[in-house]
Amino acid sequence: MNKMDILNKIKEEEVEFIYLQFTDIFGIMKNVAITVSELERALNNEIVFDGSSIDGFVRIEESDMYLYPDTDTFLVYPWYSSFGKEARFICDIYDSEGKPFEGDPRYVLKRVLNEAKEMGYSIKIGPECEFFLFNTDEFGKPTLITHDDASYFDLAPVDLGENARREMVLTLNKMGYEVEASHHEVAPGQHEIDLKCDDALYSADKIVTFKQVVRKIAKNHGLHATFMPKPIYGIPGSGLHTNIYVYKGDENLFYDKDDKLNLSKEAYSFIAGIMEHAKAICAITNPNVNSYKRLVSGYEAPMYISWSCKNRSPLIRVPSRINKNARIELRSPDPSCNPYLALAVIIKAGLDGIKRGLKPCEPVDRNLYEITDEERLEVGIDLLPQSLREAVKELKRDELIKEALGSHVYNRFIEAKEMEWKEYKSVVTSWEVERYLTKY
Ligand code: GLU
Ligand code: MG
Ligand code: MG
Repeated sequence: MNKMDILNKIKEEEVEFIYLQFTDIFGIMKNVAITVSELERALNNEIVFDGSSIDGFVRIEESDMYLYPDTDTFLVYPWYSSFGKEARFICDIYDSEGKPFEGDPRYVLKRVLNEAKEMGYSIKIGPECEFFLFNTDEFGKPTLITHDDASYFDLAPVDLGENARREMVLTLNKMGYEVEASHHEVAPGQHEIDLKCDDALYSADKIVTFKQVVRKIAKNHGLHATFMPKPIYGIPGSGLHTNIYVYKGDENLFYDKDDKLNLSKEAYSFIAGIMEHAKAICAITNPNVNSYKRLVSGYEAPMYISWSCKNRSPLIRVPSRINKNARIELRSPDPSCNPYLALAVIIKAGLDGIKRGLKPCEPVDRNLYEITDEERLEVGIDLLPQSLREAVKELKRDELIKEALGSHVYNRFIEAKEMEWKEYKSVVTSWEVERYLTKY
């Protein structure tokens, strides 16, 4: 949309408030709200904010940051607030010298996508986002109660979240977000909405917007939507499976009709690249202490660095009967990650695989949850990191992932995650109290 179209749309829809959005390094969406009278200034990239109060950004003495709205991300929200209609732009962040700000996660992803472009590739991403809908208590605070006994693909009336989910899908559609599928997931209160694939940058924009919309609509239904990876022990956690498509012009680069799996040599190399950097990638795609409670045996989340066409337990799955739609599905990311950073490191690793002509090990088509440690070591299947601490250690060793993030984000991220681990490590959990209080 050009400036004129935007101004017309704002008039026509009687928009009162415009949100200028961006995310901090943890993927938390931030807003600067302006009224229509400020729009001209915003579109001239003149809106300033204080970067020192944003997680992972800058120190006080260098804190003036400029918001550059990306006009392609303009949309009018399909709801009314008490003040009227609202619209938004997702913004890029620039420093006071007019340079893109190194700490802006969107810039991190753009840099990697540029590298892909220089190789002649464009990348599309199809995210599958899982989340839980929990009841709220009389004070509106989230609980862990679902009052929902439904399971995979169940239909209403068992599925109490059905109405909320239906409204989420319709709202996303009204915003121009195409939804490929939506369904109840395996655990009570767990849902999934899959967005149609789009250019990687816009897919990241969509994931952050998606979370905001899902939260808001859940709230209207008296529910709390959480993207915490593993809210309840003993039932499945929530993943953010990431389908990756690479194109060279109009051609799907991953497709080769003559290969026995219909995969091209670049597809194999892309898989191998991700596998080589999988441990460090985990720190970004699974960025919380809680993320590692999801990556355990038995709940369709990956634990091992392996790939397969037949199985849902490996890290990378190649969907069966691929054709011109060839893609790979990375199953490790969870929805608490910053999608800009996650896509940046995943794509960087895949491109590295292509550049170096890497070849992956053989696919493993058996259920990996049943494999013993001895068998695993024999066939050379490595484990994903077992904790945030381990993942951060791997991140500190991986030069390519460091390059993908840029030193600003890399250093801030590691600092924050080391602090998080340190705090977590010293907390006495209810598990320990239950286990030891009376025993000793
Ligand atoms: N909920 C599972 C996970 O944690 C994935 C289930 C599925 O295959 O969709 O990744
Ligand atoms: Mg699912
Ligand atoms: Mg999936």
